Amino acid sequence: MNDRQNEAKGDENTMAGDKQIGLDELLALARASSVVDGPCACIVDPHGEWSRIQASFPEQDMRPVGTLVDDPYVEATFAEFHPDGTHYWSAAAPIALRHYPYNRCTVVRCAQCGRAYLRYVEAGGYYAEPRIRAMNPNLIVDARA
Ligand SMILES: [Zn+2]
Repeated sequence: MNDRQNEAKGDENTMAGDKQIGLDELLALARASSVVDGPCACIVDPHGEWSRIQASFPEQDMRPVGTLVDDPYVEATFAEFHPDGTHYWSAAAPIALRHYPYNRCTVVRCAQCGRAYLRYVEAGGYYAEPRIRAMNPNLIVDARA
């Protein structure tokens, strides 16, 4: 196995992809992702809203791009941002920088098709569930925490 494969295999707890992504770069990634056409194994469902990462998801094709975590030494807020009545699971929920769960996300990009995704691990008392969401540039907001 070469280094690239090792890197792609890493999970959210590794430091691969700890480059910080700002608003402009996030928008650029989302715009580039949203115009990708054609089939790919990574679009098992539209990922318009948060969804659990299925076992069939092509992890091996995901490359870390960076992180939305502000400061790893400060606990990120659990406050969500829903000014228009959306909720966590809404496909129309804002992708709000500095708000939960985006303040815990890493950004990955599919090496096959170029689509980019947000992902993080939702940790409850007795479980940890990896979740993923597609990046829609129209939903990205730079909201004050
Ligand atoms: Zn893909």
